[in-house]
Amino acid sequence: MRNKAFASDTFYFRKQDCFGDLILKGFIKINKELCKECHLCIHVCPNSHIIPGKEYNAQGYRSVCVDEKKECNGCALCATMCPDIAIEVYRE
Ligand code: SF4
Ligand code: SF4
Repeated sequence: MRNKAFASDTFYFRKQDCFGDLILKGFIKINKELCKECHLCIHVCPNSHIIPGKEYNAQGYRSVCVDEKKECNGCALCATMCPDIAIEVYRE
């Protein structure tokens, strides 16, 4: 499933905007055990890629997760905002 997504993402990475610049794509990894459910990342994400989670981690917080239907542009605002360094951002 992820391999299929990579192939699709690679296609988008090569798209260019009207100025000829590449349109960036990315993905994130969330360390669910570090998340404290503050939802700052949800509010800052311009693409609504991060959503509230339902499963509790060992600390008793419901870690956020990603909405696979929404795209990540690799802007890293979520990782910059997260006070618990629970998000890693990767650009493709
Ligand atoms: S890197 Fe940007 S677009 Fe991707 S999940 Fe984080 S805030 Fe949203
Ligand atoms: S900003 Fe960090 S700690 Fe807060 S909900 Fe998002 S991932 Fe969890």
